[in-house]
Amino acid sequence: VAEGNEDRFSRQVALFGPDGQRKLRETRALIVGLGGLGSHVAQQLTFLGVPDETLIDHDIITGSSRNRVIGARPADVAAKTPKVDVAKRLILEIDPEATVVTYTVKLEHAHDAFADRTVVFGCVDNDLVRLQLTELTARHRIPYFDLASDTGIDNQGAPTYGGRIVFGAGSRCLHCLGLLDPEDIRRARLPEDARRAHDETYGIKQSALAGTGPAVVSVNGAVAALAVTEFMGWITRIREPAAQLVYYGEKRAVRRSTDEGDPDCPYCRLWRQ
Ligand SMILES: [Zn+2]
Repeated sequence: VAEGNEDRFSRQVALFGPDGQRKLRETRALIVGLGGLGSHVAQQLTFLGVPDETLIDHDIITGSSRNRVIGARPADVAAKTPKVDVAKRLILEIDPEATVVTYTVKLEHAHDAFADRTVVFGCVDNDLVRLQLTELTARHRIPYFDLASDTGIDNQGAPTYGGRIVFGAGSRCLHCLGLLDPEDIRRARLPEDARRAHDETYGIKQSALAGTGPAVVSVNGAVAALAVTEFMGWITRIREPAAQLVYYGEKRAVRRSTDEGDPDCPYCRLWRQ
């Protein structure tokens, strides 16, 4: 035990016991998306004592990242630092002995990252990647927490801010819960010039603007903390995670959805093959 490390987890072991801490230490996490949501998840998993994190994000830090990406520094903008490298630095500052593997590529080029993972956190901002994650986690039978922040202006012009988390492990998923927008997925699959023509004809829906729309650190932090807290309760055997929690920031409420999945869902069926 490194100097000064004996008490590192004493305050949380007081909650869930040494067996719970051992379960955290045995976790091999995969975080997809290391921006406004995923950077909080990386930080919190490391503080909890998850020692092994694989990170996927092809994107770099820009000036507009600096209102919310945990660990980003001013110099990262000029240096065009990949978001995964900022997260790796953050993790290693908290736990120098952590194992961190980074993929600075899009998800479709990082399928081998799934092979030995025990939990996946999806922290992305588009439904095509969520669909890819739904299929990949089902094929590998890896429990999957999906995080989404949902911040914008409603039809009456009032600000709305919040988000939701969904936990899938074979009995329900984003697809059979009806949470993926087929129109967003179709648009995301178009080649660049066809997408531009599509947007000129139909306009861009707010949901498809997630990468450039409103984003606030505290809202992302609330959504990330809901997901990591459900993970903590599940992995330490305190209780089963909620299937779906929805955070309505402007109403100051978190609600648990009891929506059921579809037993014939093609993605959930992959878990049973
Ligand atoms: Zn399903």
